[in-house]
Amino acid sequence: MKIEVVGSGCTWMKKLSTSFIVDDHIMIDCPQGSFKTMFSQGKLQGIDTVILTHFHSDHWADFHLFVEFCKKSGFAEKIKVFAPEGFWEKFEAVTNAFCLPKTFLYAKEHLAFSKLTNGKVFKVGRINFTAYEVLHIPNSFGFVADDAKTSVGFSGDTAMCDGLIKILKRSKHIFIDMAATATNDKHLSVSEVLNLSKEFENTVFHPIHLSKFSIAAAKNKIPLTREGEVFEI
Ligand SMILES: [Zn+2]
Repeated sequence: MKIEVVGSGCTWMKKLSTSFIVDDHIMIDCPQGSFKTMFSQGKLQGIDTVILTHFHSDHWADFHLFVEFCKKSGFAEKIKVFAPEGFWEKFEAVTNAFCLPKTFLYAKEHLAFSKLTNGKVFKVGRINFTAYEVLHIPNSFGFVADDAKTSVGFSGDTAMCDGLIKILKRSKHIFIDMAATATNDKHLSVSEVLNLSKEFENTVFHPIHLSKFSIAAAKNKIPLTREGEVFEI
């Protein structure tokens, strides 16, 4: 499985917020700034599927620009979108706020939306994704992505919860939220991630959603995930 780290930061970093491109055609989240980067690098042409973990702006603020790109490019096939329930209502509100009513009409015709459901599997290309609800805001999801070779977890934004443990139990690698320096109910802290990496010692940990504080606290204790890094797992 090819996993490209478009960004690995949080909102309060100069570097891009966390998002990924998997196998050159699956975009996981579309935060502010990521569209310009992916567009200028020519990465968008091959995207046929978008997975949105939840509706905070640092996970889909540029999604409407991706839809604009699809509209201008005139893709023949529908773009598949997997996102939490409420997607259409929220996307209509966003496009209204940005005075882009035609973008919404285009989306209604050219996006194939599927609702993420806890424990449900959805297949994209050669990968089976299993969605797990996690503890962040209501309707936040992480995943395990299985192909013939490996199982890769994506925690999404999460605090410690059952869904995260289910993801970890099945993952050989995990891209895991490490935004915080103290335990809370929205994000994982550095010490929680370090403890999990000891508990799940056969899983390779890739911390994401990094802040300058978590980077400082994690220094030399766990390898951090870098913007632009490409993994062949
Ligand atoms: Zn969030």
